[in-house]
Amino acid sequence: MIITPDKIERVAGGIVVVDISGQMPKHKFRRYLRRQKKISKLYFHKSGRLGAPGLQGAINSARYCVNHRKVGNSPIPGWAGMPYTFWINFHPVYLEQIAEIDVFDSNWELDPEAWVFFRCQPDHLRTWHTGGLANQIGVSACFQGTGEISDFQFEVAEALIPWAKERYKLQLPFGLSWHSDRSKWGPPKVKPVCPGPEAVKWLEDYRANC
Ligand SMILES: [Zn+2]
Repeated sequence: MIITPDKIERVAGGIVVVDISGQMPKHKFRRYLRRQKKISKLYFHKSGRLGAPGLQGAINSARYCVNHRKVGNSPIPGWAGMPYTFWINFHPVYLEQIAEIDVFDSNWELDPEAWVFFRCQPDHLRTWHTGGLANQIGVSACFQGTGEISDFQFEVAEALIPWAKERYKLQLPFGLSWHSDRSKWGPPKVKPVCPGPEAVKWLEDYRANC
């Protein structure tokens, strides 16, 4: 796939977000609706399986949701598309692994060795990540994997949170949240295993110190 410079945004020193939302598999007829409320929360999740490295990991996760996730009582499965706004691979992804060399020639500020996380959905879509009001007011970030968080993932999260705070004017600490945290204030459906104890401890510490 061709990554053009306009799809790459610098998040922090050495970390960029690459917009692959146009490449994500979509359901054959279901579509996410536009959100009706302002973004005020960032929710962390885990994908639940380690999956493929690089871009393919995000594509496979989206494909699974589009083909297999249940929708209420409908006999036809499949969510509209990738539920997560942002995707953080378990193994490091470097810009030079996914971008053509002319991307670097056309923008000398881009570092070929920059670490990459992915944008999988535009902000204006109310995707199905956390449920209820949380989907309406929140964007989501997903740690690829089963609950073990890699150093790469923690470092990317550490860059992503302040960048998201600035971008969405999040009020910390509680603008930062995660799937299982939602149960403390949100609707009744709880998913206590997501994103898992290792991530939750890190996020709680982050929230306590910001
Ligand atoms: Zn989750």
